[in-house]
Amino acid sequence: MEKLFGTFGIRRVVNEILTPDFALKLAYSFGTYINQETVTVGRDARKHSEMIYDAVISGLLACGCQVIELGLTATPTLQWACRQWNTWGAMVTASHNPPQWNGIKFMEKTGKGLDHENDVDVEKIFYSEKYHFVSWKDIPQKTIKRNINDDYIQAIIDKVNLPLIQQSHFRVVVDCANGAPCLITPQLLSDLGCRVVSLNAHPDGRFPGRNPEPTPDNLTDLTTLITHAPFHIGFAQDGDGDRLIVIRPNGEFVSGDYSVSLVANELAQQDLPGPIVTTVATSNMLNEIAQKTGRGFIATAVGDLVVAKALQQNNGIFGCEENGGMIFPDFVWGRDGAIAAARILNIMATKEKSLDDLLKELPQYFQVKMKVPVNPEKKEKILSEIDRLTSAEKNRVTIDGFKVFYPDGSWLLIRPSGTEPLLRIFAESRDEERARAIVQKYLDIINSI
Ligand code: MG
Repeated sequence: MEKLFGTFGIRRVVNEILTPDFALKLAYSFGTYINQETVTVGRDARKHSEMIYDAVISGLLACGCQVIELGLTATPTLQWACRQWNTWGAMVTASHNPPQWNGIKFMEKTGKGLDHENDVDVEKIFYSEKYHFVSWKDIPQKTIKRNINDDYIQAIIDKVNLPLIQQSHFRVVVDCANGAPCLITPQLLSDLGCRVVSLNAHPDGRFPGRNPEPTPDNLTDLTTLITHAPFHIGFAQDGDGDRLIVIRPNGEFVSGDYSVSLVANELAQQDLPGPIVTTVATSNMLNEIAQKTGRGFIATAVGDLVVAKALQQNNGIFGCEENGGMIFPDFVWGRDGAIAAARILNIMATKEKSLDDLLKELPQYFQVKMKVPVNPEKKEKILSEIDRLTSAEKNRVTIDGFKVFYPDGSWLLIRPSGTEPLLRIFAESRDEERARAIVQKYLDIINSI
């Protein structure tokens, strides 16, 4: 039986595998699994998202589920709505993937993505085709259509100090990736009193402006533009609005480790309980911030869903990932780029400090992050050699890949990709040369096999 779900929902190339028929059967499976309960459904701005969305709605109705339609919206907005209304969720999106991709993410009634065990239950129904269709009398006659975007924007504003941010008159440039954030983030920033310049801010599933993944290579328009006027900060999002990348006024990309630490540093000082949760791939800055403020620190395997679950289980205060993903448990049980932007402006306004000054206050670490292609035939041999070598180190954890902590505070992480023939090698140290040397040592070993 082929595994249907990835780490969060399914993603496939449209009309190769992800046809309306495939989406319909997946919706029958989810509808059967949740047994006639209500589902909130949304979609991103891809060309074929409406086609898949209509199929999902039909499938859910056939199984007797009442459907609340949000139409075009961001993934965190849908997750917020599920939590407000205590409904299941289905989001049609392929997040940051190229334009030919689409996908479906299912949410629990808290708004968190469906757990892996529940994915497996839905998968079993999909492959057995044991769908539960209700009698014609029990098919809901109408879907309920709601525009939630304004309520969601207001809910974010309620979480920050609006007068202080307004008085700061921030000049902000935001790149919306021609995706779902177009409907959310520019409006939010305007409502916060910012002078907003927006890029790629009309929904267009051809992604004419840039690839929807917010990597440095894809953000050159933004990083160039920001240096041509006196902006305070730049933001970039991915296609479904759960990720946020921060750009400095000089056009430099702020690594996710730093943007999440900036927020963690501020939240950790608040008089609220709960540990900070992040993945093994994130900077030691987070651990340091937790220690300084006397709160717990939890490191999970890589994946936003894993972080969200650990936050729920441990009543965490903040969850984050090294790619800039931030989870605020008092708002949405998943990554949320729009509220992350508002919280960063809130920090700048309340502390009356520039982005650059706030970044300078953080513990300074150097990270080296590499993707190393490996011959699939040699992958097992390479991994067993890395296992052998790292097991000799005193302080090693194997939550996800192999992570070694060295006595000087530096660390190394080597993880095989689950989907591609490559290894991810990360190292961090207070000293740049040391971080490079750690990675080089293992590169040499890998290349010698
Ligand atoms: Mg995304």
